[in-house]
Amino acid sequence: MAIEQVDDEPESAAKTIPHWYSADNDDVPTLVDGDGVEVFDADGRAYLDFQSQLYCVNAGHSNQRIIDAIADQLARIPYVSSGKHNDTRNELVTRLLEVAPESMSQTLFSISGSEANEAAVMLAREYADAPKVLTRWRSYHGATYGTASLTGDTDTSSYIQSHAAMTGNAKFLPPIPAAFDAESPDELAEQAANHLEFVIRNEGPDSIAAILTEIVAGSSGGFTAPPGYFERVRELCDEYDILLIADEVITGFGRTGEWFGAQSEGVQPDLMTFAKGVTSSYVPLAGVMMNAAIADYVAEEGFDIGQTFAGHPVGCAAGLAAMDVYEDELLENARSVAPHLESRLTALEERFDVVSSVHGRGLLWGVEFTDPETGEPFVDPRVSDADNPVKSVLSAAGENGAIFGMGRPGIQLLVSPPLCVTETEIDEAVDILENAIETAF
Ligand code: PMP
Repeated sequence: MAIEQVDDEPESAAKTIPHWYSADNDDVPTLVDGDGVEVFDADGRAYLDFQSQLYCVNAGHSNQRIIDAIADQLARIPYVSSGKHNDTRNELVTRLLEVAPESMSQTLFSISGSEANEAAVMLAREYADAPKVLTRWRSYHGATYGTASLTGDTDTSSYIQSHAAMTGNAKFLPPIPAAFDAESPDELAEQAANHLEFVIRNEGPDSIAAILTEIVAGSSGGFTAPPGYFERVRELCDEYDILLIADEVITGFGRTGEWFGAQSEGVQPDLMTFAKGVTSSYVPLAGVMMNAAIADYVAEEGFDIGQTFAGHPVGCAAGLAAMDVYEDELLENARSVAPHLESRLTALEERFDVVSSVHGRGLLWGVEFTDPETGEPFVDPRVSDADNPVKSVLSAAGENGAIFGMGRPGIQLLVSPPLCVTETEIDEAVDILENAIETAF
């Protein structure tokens, strides 16, 4: 639902139209144009889009190959219902399976990341004949009734969570690393996996359909799990007969340097959801990939939630073209520039005592701010964003021509440029960020 901001003074409260998309930054400009990593406002000012809008314009703005594929599909046949066959859609299924983790054997399309997660959870609960889903505090899985219930992002999504529908069957795991006190990554992996096993045993393995997890926690901070954690998760899922659902809505399509985040961890999920980057977000498309056993189940029992726009041919055409662009140029570029982004960002920790940690993978990073005097965040993200210094950093950076994302309000900002970013653009954007931190603190 895109709602334009009104310029004139509203006559009554009823006519006040919220500008939803400025929720994390009131100073965002009205964007009218884009090219690669850059976006342009109505006055012709250029900004380096180091948020890829919502961690989703992976191929960069206005990529001609994707635009042409969309136009061709529209000219040929714009829409074929989700219950019928379409050549573009069929081709995309094949293409996705070529690059997905080996465990994946079939794809069902959807429209948004939320709806893909919703479908994955419905399918998992039906297939496993069990009601509960394990998820994590400080995760984001969507804004529908079901996925809101499975979203553990209490700071940024408290409104969404107030609508959560299936809370009784959503069981939250503690965030990694925040909830643990480990002295090494190995110890952290062990503690977190032991805790997971404790939850499984106490909830009752037979009552749990799946664990739903981001591979790198996206909008809640760019956190990676310690090495070995996902291996243990996979073992526990096998041991207790629980499905592993990887939410790849942000981590898919090159964001971590691999096609999917699961590949960056060497883990084979049972179900995997994707959205955003599949079309570089030029048009909406999402989906659920599944392993052979679940695919057989679907073939026998059916799983038809019949959404009109699921697997829209225009989205599938955009997806095929975006995948070509990733394969031909951008995956390699993402891999080659990621170490430079990492080293520029980790240097912030050395330089600024307010930057308490920098974490992430590939082209998805979180920069965390803590008051060095108290060792606590500068603001409680649940109370108010009145004197939010991270917001001041974002504003100062925006004024100087670089857009970053807000993670937990007042605590983190997120860095996530399109995969076509160059080292020069990384230097420009991180220089702007450094100046913004100096201005804000
Ligand atoms: N999962 C993750 C990890 C996400 O980051 C998001 C959106 N930011 C979603 C699911 C929901 O996707 P959508 O906004 O397309 O519904």
